[in-house]
Amino acid sequence: MATQDGCIFCKIANHVIESDYVYEDELVVAFRDMSPMAPTHVLVVPKEHYDNIVDSVPADTLAAMAHAVDQVTRAEGIRESGFRTIANTGKDAGQTVMHLHWHVLGGETLPMALA
Ligand code: AMP
Repeated sequence: MATQDGCIFCKIANHVIESDYVYEDELVVAFRDMSPMAPTHVLVVPKEHYDNIVDSVPADTLAAMAHAVDQVTRAEGIRESGFRTIANTGKDAGQTVMHLHWHVLGGETLPMALA
């Protein structure tokens, strides 16, 4: 599993540092954001390190991330009410953690600008 030294999401995704996990499989984890911006605010994160969505992410990892979104939104009860999936990429988008992650937000009517 290729990880990057000093990367906080590498550590959480591989249980070097524990978090509030809501889903896990062979390729990805999902855990609660430490600064939630909605009643449900979960981050879907691959165990392997990729900087962002355009960092040659393998198809099986992207499929696992989509599957995790499906599982998390079912478990959180927001699949039918609706939710938002966000991938901030780079400086102009405000990406602060340089390890690929998808925000999954829901549980209330969401404002247009979030995460
Ligand atoms: P972004 O700005 O898109 O890179 O999002 C990074 C997100 O990671 C922010 O919403 C942070 O609140 C969240 N975050 C950063 N460090 C942690 C951590 N150790 N545990 C949980 N969430 C974190």
